[in-house]
Amino acid sequence: MKYVIVIPDGAADEPQAALGGRSPLEAADTPAMDALVRSGVLARACHTPPDLPAGSEVGNLSLLGYDPRTYFTGRAPLEAAAQGIALGPADWAVRCNLVTVQRQIMRDFTADHISTAEAVRLLGSLQTALAASPEYRGALEFVPGVSYRNLLIWRGDRMPAPFSMETRSRPPHDLTDQSIVGEFPRGPGCDVLVALMEGSVEAFADHPVNVVRSGYGKLPATNIWLWGLGQAPALRPFAELYGPRGAMITAVDLLRGLAALAGWDRIVVPGATGYTDTDYAAKGRYAIDALRRYDLVCVHVEAPDEASHEGDCHAKVKALEAIDAQIVAPLREALAGYEAWRMMISPDHPTFLRTKTHTHGDVPVAMAGTGIVPDAAQAYGDRLAAQANLAFPEGWQAMEYFTRGARS
Ligand SMILES: [Zn+2]
Repeated sequence: MKYVIVIPDGAADEPQAALGGRSPLEAADTPAMDALVRSGVLARACHTPPDLPAGSEVGNLSLLGYDPRTYFTGRAPLEAAAQGIALGPADWAVRCNLVTVQRQIMRDFTADHISTAEAVRLLGSLQTALAASPEYRGALEFVPGVSYRNLLIWRGDRMPAPFSMETRSRPPHDLTDQSIVGEFPRGPGCDVLVALMEGSVEAFADHPVNVVRSGYGKLPATNIWLWGLGQAPALRPFAELYGPRGAMITAVDLLRGLAALAGWDRIVVPGATGYTDTDYAAKGRYAIDALRRYDLVCVHVEAPDEASHEGDCHAKVKALEAIDAQIVAPLREALAGYEAWRMMISPDHPTFLRTKTHTHGDVPVAMAGTGIVPDAAQAYGDRLAAQANLAFPEGWQAMEYFTRGARS
């Protein structure tokens, strides 16, 4: 059996006045997704339990068949896995954004899309100015990632980390244009996080990187913002739980990390950007090629989520149409060449154009292929799925159905 999963990140949404009262999925011309639903089933699933963050980190964990209430330990450990950083049982990973704060307002959670080369220099300075302090006994490592997305690793064998699951820190993208007063980390170890964040202000104040940036009109990186902290989740390998040997195609670190922890290979596609300008057709081609070598291929596309964050309903519709024509359609055609196959399309969470952010709630799930008995559904869409008989309120249980269920 060959399995394909397509994840249009954040695709689920509300009806839009600008789209004649239709949701982006309803308004988009998606013949391949609709045909898949007609030959299979339309279900709804909730991948973001109300007591956990409504983000890609929780949603995709659930989508891959892991109960997020059991396995979600924070965003940073997933990104550490994506970078190939091994975390020991006493280690913690903390997401370390480079941000721009001016007059106590979070001006930019990306520090004006700071370059990776600049980030490397800034984090090097933090390592010297803050992490090297004897009070931390060599436990702290600032690790550059890509652009503003960096990590702080706390090696617990050198000095026990003061954090717990009760340590809370707001993601900086939730604070955009808001005051940061009263929004600093809370709970066990928060004093250390706050001290590092405040220490970064001094380390960055006259930093050569910022001097150069202001010279060409870019916002400076004024601070680090520490959040998303956690320990490595102990995921049982996907193949052990569900059978298929998988591979992931994505431009996003978080998904790469999840795939690594699930025991999947990661396939790099040139031209995959994680943005609305991604090379959809290349993702489709690489996925078809990977099907020859793997039982299961998962294609994640970030573009619909990005379009929602920008509040651009037409860009969201265009992204969904590109996914349909250049990823879903060719993959469905390729699957027809195999004796037995199944295909699933599911977003990880809704991302509302209205609020420009992720939200809890159901997403529409299309499943079709060998042994899946068709229901009466005629098209892939939000409101049709909301009325579906097949529902996975614990979204992670959909994977059991997809890989083993409904065989005739
Ligand atoms: Zn997402």
